[in-house]
Amino acid sequence: MRRIAIIGSGQAGLINAHALLKAGYEVSLYSDRTGQQWLTEGKPTGTAVRFPMALAYERELGLDFWNDSPAAAVGVNFVLCLQPGTPFLVLNGRFATPALAVDLRLQSSRWLEEFEKRGGKLHIEKITIERLDAISAEHDLTIIASGKGALSDLFPVDEKRSIYTKPQRHLSMVNVINANDNPNNRVRIARYYELPKAGETVWTPYHHMTHGSSWNLFSEAREGGPLDIFRDAKSGEDVLDRFKQLIRKVYPWDWEWAKDMKVADPNGWLTGEIRPTIRKPVGILPSGRPVTFVGDAGMAFDPVGAQGANNGNKMARHLTEAIVKRGSAPFDAAWIEATFDGFYHNHGEPAYRFNNAFLDGLPLAGQEILAAQYGSDGRADNSSPAQKLANEFCANFSDPRCITDALLDVSRARKLISTHTGGAAMAAVMKGRFAIIGNLIRWWMSSKKADFGFQHQMWS
Ligand SMILES: Cc1cc2nc3c(=O)[nH]c(=O)nc-3n(C[C@H](O)[C@H](O)[C@H](O)COP(=O)(O)OP(=O)(O)OC[C@H]3O[C@@H](n4cnc5c(N)ncnc54)[C@H](O)[C@@H]3O)c2cc1C
Repeated sequence: MRRIAIIGSGQAGLINAHALLKAGYEVSLYSDRTGQQWLTEGKPTGTAVRFPMALAYERELGLDFWNDSPAAAVGVNFVLCLQPGTPFLVLNGRFATPALAVDLRLQSSRWLEEFEKRGGKLHIEKITIERLDAISAEHDLTIIASGKGALSDLFPVDEKRSIYTKPQRHLSMVNVINANDNPNNRVRIARYYELPKAGETVWTPYHHMTHGSSWNLFSEAREGGPLDIFRDAKSGEDVLDRFKQLIRKVYPWDWEWAKDMKVADPNGWLTGEIRPTIRKPVGILPSGRPVTFVGDAGMAFDPVGAQGANNGNKMARHLTEAIVKRGSAPFDAAWIEATFDGFYHNHGEPAYRFNNAFLDGLPLAGQEILAAQYGSDGRADNSSPAQKLANEFCANFSDPRCITDALLDVSRARKLISTHTGGAAMAAVMKGRFAIIGNLIRWWMSSKKADFGFQHQMWS
């Protein structure tokens, strides 16, 4: 039986470890923490909402322990704001099947337990380069799944593929309870606010490790803008206080919902920055032996388009399938390169381009799709062209091969709109634009500012 070592017990390492166990390999997983330490000492490394395609793989591997969580999100309420306090354009898109964000601390702890139960060998140890070399000597293949930590430096940055030379946003995130959720809302949806030139803010339904169904507040600030208020935050309470200030000023329609929120636990928060980075897939150890990567260790995304964990699952599937196909031949540098190239062209590159479209701002093509979908309400029984377009936008989070090209290219955007509107692409775009402007005027004229489009509609 071929022996494979994996370093790191986050999302990508554990998915890969379970996939290889299932495929019949002898798998050793090296983690710098136990399952219990994940629960009591660690921070969640991200929100990590997973969409249908990535979740399907978790189901296939028998790791879908939170399938029935009420925190599953059926869709996204995407709101483009004109300026702080002024919503402008709304999209209510529905996923093919619900998305889910499970507290990564709970998930890693549970998946580690399951890994041992299924016959995997778990080693609790922080791996150094020297130790890695010794581990690789004992295994047919060693996979680095250590996230953005030091071991990823084994893999040179691919400067051609990594288009940004520095982080594009300052990130902050906190897990919260006690939201004043409308008891009549029968389903959960994520809310995604885009504030051009300032950044993005996302409220995600979240399955917390002890509280279960709760919320995750997440912000992506452009430097110096109204969202850039978290840099020196010192604790979860501090982050939440600043989110409350932000909500009051920038998203006042959510104030009643947010005003009584409390932090879910002392470790459930993060601030920081990520340079979106794609690395070359072959790392050479001092002995000359090659190793490869999976997950953030090789492809680190800014979380603006919620792609990192989803991409990690797809990378783990691709790598596992390539390992199986390799039979008993050596996992040499040429095989590693060809394997990653195959993944990158099929999945990695579309995900990276989709994510970058958020970082850079949607070009005209994407704006036309958003205009043409205007009027989507997210209801399951809505089969209008607008709703279908909104749902396609959501499907792209799951599989960025769907409409990334259309979001970036006007002729493809119009072709996509035409397929749903019976050829009337420009009419749909213009109709959407007029409706958006009409709605904005109504919003400005209304004294209560409470009836913006489909802002607080009840989905079913
Ligand atoms: C604020 C935020 C929000 C996010 N939201 C989303 C989202 O909505 N959707 C999405 O898809 N992605 C999202 N992401 C990205 C997602 O969280 C990551 O892509 C994913 O968690 C990375 O998993 P990983 O296993 O590659 O790395 P990690 O989760 O970083 O795990 C690596 C593990 O390896 C261990 N390790 C490191 N070095 C060693 C060593 N030397 N020896 C032993 N063990 C070691 C670490 O302790 C860690 O446990 C978000 C990220 C952030 C920061």
